[in-house]
Amino acid sequence: MVALAVVGLAAWGALRRGPAPSVVITGDHEAIGPATRITAHFSEPSGGLGAIRLELVQGERSVMLAERRFARGGAFSPFRSPRTAEADLTATVGRSAQAWLQEGEATVRATADRMAGPLRSHAPVVVEKKMAVLLRPPRLELLSRQHYVRQGGCGVVVFRVGDGVVSSGVRAGDTVSLSFPLPGGGPGERFALFAIPWELDDVGQVRLFAEDAAGNRSELPFVDLFKKAPPKSDTIELSDAFLERVVPAIASQTPGFDASGSLLDQYLRINGKERQEVLAKIAAIAKNTESAFLWRGAFLQMPDTQRRAGFAESRTYLYQGRAVDHQTHLGLDLASTEHAPVPAANSGRVVFAGWLVIYGNAVIIDHGYGLMSLYGHMSSISVKPGDVVAKGQQIGNSGSTGLAGGDHLHLEIFVQGKSVDPLEWLDEHWIRDNIASKVKLP
Ligand SMILES: [Zn+2]
Repeated sequence: MVALAVVGLAAWGALRRGPAPSVVITGDHEAIGPATRITAHFSEPSGGLGAIRLELVQGERSVMLAERRFARGGAFSPFRSPRTAEADLTATVGRSAQAWLQEGEATVRATADRMAGPLRSHAPVVVEKKMAVLLRPPRLELLSRQHYVRQGGCGVVVFRVGDGVVSSGVRAGDTVSLSFPLPGGGPGERFALFAIPWELDDVGQVRLFAEDAAGNRSELPFVDLFKKAPPKSDTIELSDAFLERVVPAIASQTPGFDASGSLLDQYLRINGKERQEVLAKIAAIAKNTESAFLWRGAFLQMPDTQRRAGFAESRTYLYQGRAVDHQTHLGLDLASTEHAPVPAANSGRVVFAGWLVIYGNAVIIDHGYGLMSLYGHMSSISVKPGDVVAKGQQIGNSGSTGLAGGDHLHLEIFVQGKSVDPLEWLDEHWIRDNIASKVKLP
């Protein structure tokens, strides 16, 4: 009778036990270097977690990184603590926290004990993650020379990185232009077509960088000559006639647009929040670039056009004499006749064709290696995403859709989603001296 009861209880206990706890170890870097943030996620939905530990082991040495025990209310306590089904332990590992770490390999070990009961005791669950320990900054060697760059402009740099580099390119302030393998180059040879932000006037913040899987980083200054080009300022008068023409037209074509408040309120929403959303969308589109030079020779200015507003014009918007907004114009405005044919400025592949709020009807063409051109305010579009276009091929007609005072083409050039001065790309001498002199163009 007693024996039967014990068997019964044991079976009940086994039933209660459920699946073993799960433990998942992740890191913010693939390897351990200066400082890698490790997180272990523990889960025991049936019986609850008893205690959890996170340790770092290398050779004979091991160190407790983090530990937690969970209270279990006594069987006779009226206030039994609720069981803990999920918990995380996090710790920073690397040379900054464990000065004794050596190059090679280390093990991160996470251990989970389940809540033991009067008739339950379980072996702990141990999960280990072996990680490379990399403590030296990666090799980074500059190969190209004579980097003459301009605020708001572009350049190319050629360099070589050592094994294990997972990210490299140019950092200019907050703007990062990632590199690509150098076409026809040897092992580790890469190049970056990079953007110098229009808002950055300090060449000290322009660096070539290489980073490995552990976050070890090498940086080199490489710019030989830097020319400042501060934004020009301009004021724009917002008339009621302009607001009446552009605001309802944009509001009706922009899904989810908040059309509450005055026309001026709505205009400020378009020029502010909607502008930011469009820029985020362009940044996402910018990732869809081909690793090839799809363009040939200087970019084409739309024929028979006059250059109006230029790149990096800092605009103060006045309404009834009062400054209501401030934005920077980052393209080149080209005015011709109404509904004039718009040619592709260079050969490439269409990556966007459609409504782009402030830009109205717009087309974006990828020219490869992060370089893209945008055509805004068009009255009609005659290409679709995926189309391969030749330099000069008509992609639509000019117009005044979006935030446009009148019929014109807004031509904007991006490098990995950052606006750069289009004039450099319209200049074949600039291309010869700054691009073709460093990488072999097809
Ligand atoms: Zn414009």
